[in-house]
Amino acid sequence: MGRVRTRFAPSPTGFLHLGGARTAAFNWALARKEEGDFVLRIEDTDRERSKKQFEEAILEDLRWLGIEWDEGPDRGGPYAPYRQSERGEIYQSFIAQLKAENLIYPCYCTVEELEEERKKALKMGKAPRYSGRCFFLSPEERKEKEERGIKPSWRFRVPRGKEIVLEDLVRGKVVFHTNSLGDFIVLKSDGVPTYNFACVIDDALMDISHVLRGEEHLSNTPYQILLYQALELTPPLFAHVPIILDEERTKLSKRRGEVSVRFFREEGFLPEAILNHLLTLGHSFPDGREIVEGEELYTLFSLERIGKGGAIFDLSHLNWWNKTYIRRMDIRELEEKLTPWGGEEIREFKKELGEERFYLLLDLVREESVTLKEIAERLRDYISVKEEKVEDEEKLQVLKFLLSSLNDFPVPWEEEEVKKNLRRWQKESGFPPSIFYPVLRWALIGSEEGPELDRLLVALGREKVLEKIKAKVGDNGNSTV
Ligand code: GLU
Repeated sequence: MGRVRTRFAPSPTGFLHLGGARTAAFNWALARKEEGDFVLRIEDTDRERSKKQFEEAILEDLRWLGIEWDEGPDRGGPYAPYRQSERGEIYQSFIAQLKAENLIYPCYCTVEELEEERKKALKMGKAPRYSGRCFFLSPEERKEKEERGIKPSWRFRVPRGKEIVLEDLVRGKVVFHTNSLGDFIVLKSDGVPTYNFACVIDDALMDISHVLRGEEHLSNTPYQILLYQALELTPPLFAHVPIILDEERTKLSKRRGEVSVRFFREEGFLPEAILNHLLTLGHSFPDGREIVEGEELYTLFSLERIGKGGAIFDLSHLNWWNKTYIRRMDIRELEEKLTPWGGEEIREFKKELGEERFYLLLDLVREESVTLKEIAERLRDYISVKEEKVEDEEKLQVLKFLLSSLNDFPVPWEEEEVKKNLRRWQKESGFPPSIFYPVLRWALIGSEEGPELDRLLVALGREKVLEKIKAKVGDNGNSTV
């Protein structure tokens, strides 16, 4: 095998979504594993929908995920330019070749005419494809159209009665019949090449060895193979990877919830968790390993372990990956990573609680949370003191009792001592554990469920605990039961 060169070729018409990121991850992993090159190419032939800001966002999100490319529009490379909008002359030379060999012909059909043809075919229960009408125009008819100023698009004449065989690395042998393919446009009437054409020229000229892409592109592949054959270019090896489905086995799409990498980033998911998870969507690591990091992400990647199905995106799985990574992280690194969700405030909390207790609390909070954003929100809830007078008589009794116990008996504020006394106080209060503990937890964090109380009490510190209970009792706790 020659040098492995893979590519990710996004169209900058929106943010990078999970499907695109998965494609990028697979191509990146294969190139790294084989010590080849990973190319980033921007497919911006759709001038109306392509936006510079999306290109920038895609690059930024890929970098954030830890997917680095060797060649691309931002860093150049031996096959530059890497933006299709800058490769016009290259495409024109191949168009000229196809014209010279009579392999393409001008098509003057209007959008309306094509639409009518399509509808007719559908009505007759046939798959719509271009009839080839303009192929049969006489030179006079063509001249007449030209004189009327109609700008043609250029179509590739698909040879009839042939089979196209694709040896797909994932799907095995796939056979297409040219009779089911219509003559397809390679150059639009505005002089812009179509995706199928530009993609072939670029993959060939950029020496791409493997194209790993979503199964939805399988239907484009026979057209692309025809072009490779016509231009006598060597096609890459293709691997069409299973489409990502959601929990309900329908195509993962924005309609059913956010699927952009940026969304998950802003929600506080970790790039390492996402990248690791993406590499398990349609691919599996040896021995069913789930957590895979660093170099193993690509050394353990294998084309043989890409399945024909099984790419199900289930948020609960990503949550699990994220939680796992958050729990394994060095606590100071975790603190650093919280910065976008209120760095200043978190620094204040740390000052207020003192380093030791702050880290105890952070450790406690991370066990409860899925995302960085959740951790920051919990820290805020756990540390801030909310004045809120309790109306419920029973709750009030519990809290007043606690207040007097804490005031009268300043236990050394260590986990063992707190634990022992907490149990004692509960018993002395006369309230059952099912009332006593949830009320205390509610006073401290605003929820009756949550972390272990003794650890929470130690982390918050005696002063903070008193302050929080007083804020609920509402009379500075001067009264006793
Ligand atoms: N620009 C195409 C897309 O974003 C690339 C398809 C391909 O990988 O060939 O879907």
